[in-house]
Amino acid sequence: MHIFLANPRGFCAGVNMAIRTLDAAIVRFGLPLYVYHEIVHNTWVVNDFKSRGVKFVDSIEDVPEGSRLMFSAHGVAPNIRTAAIQKNIETIDATCPLVAKVHREVLRYAVENYTIILIGHSGHDEVIGTMNEAPKSIILVEHESDVYNLKLKSSEKLVVLTQTTLSVTETYSMIELLRKRFPNIICEPNSNICYATQHRQEAIAILAPFADIVLIVGSKNSSNSKRLAERSESIGVRSILIDGAENINSDWFKGDEKVLISAGASAPEYVVQDCVKLLQKNFNATVEERQTCTDSLSFRLPIDSL
Ligand code: SF4
Repeated sequence: MHIFLANPRGFCAGVNMAIRTLDAAIVRFGLPLYVYHEIVHNTWVVNDFKSRGVKFVDSIEDVPEGSRLMFSAHGVAPNIRTAAIQKNIETIDATCPLVAKVHREVLRYAVENYTIILIGHSGHDEVIGTMNEAPKSIILVEHESDVYNLKLKSSEKLVVLTQTTLSVTETYSMIELLRKRFPNIICEPNSNICYATQHRQEAIAILAPFADIVLIVGSKNSSNSKRLAERSESIGVRSILIDGAENINSDWFKGDEKVLISAGASAPEYVVQDCVKLLQKNFNATVEERQTCTDSLSFRLPIDSL
């Protein structure tokens, strides 16, 4: 067996910032410490913080008055911020700056009376937060059929924005469809899909054709991890999303395969290395890094300014 390790893979700048902020908050403020939703969508990361006493909540009702609450990398709706202020809750905002940028764009276009078409996945934490910035001005489209069903006047001012972790190819074809239906629609250059999502998908597109099977390390609720697995499948290479080495089934392999391993933006590198070690042990696998581009972004911790 030969393993290609896709590079870039795993933690992006936003996830790194959010995790380091929560680490720093535990040291600086101690417990109790609450986080609104999962800090990032990864089982290992969340379980590690739970074991250290951090409490994850899905409702502001579950956060006691006067306590300390962190907003996750996916961002929150403005009503959550207001509710926190009303309960005298101290907040730390670990929203990824690239998500916060989409929130600002929503507010800017809503003030200018645009109808905003948001391409995204219904129910995703990021989409809920983004839509609630201007719920009366936003229409969510998830599938191409939603674009055909849009009932809008050609005279309306229209703009398209997107969730940050979508499939690049599917999103571009949705944008093209929107452009055909509404020639005057404004499209942000390159959509709002973030650099990390683009780089990881690009690596799969380049490397998957050299592999017999692709393993994507990431949790089932991680949007960008699921998109990596789909990207590989779309070019005809079997792909399996795994949370970690314990999910690997030896029956998937004969032992002489080329295996491409990548990881979603919220998956820790030690989990990737555990998978590699397992395949080395069971199939005597050799390992090779394949770099397709470089991630060069990093974000300041919001906690530095507290
Ligand atoms: S995947 Fe992109 S938008 Fe999401 S946290 Fe990472 S850098 Fe930010």
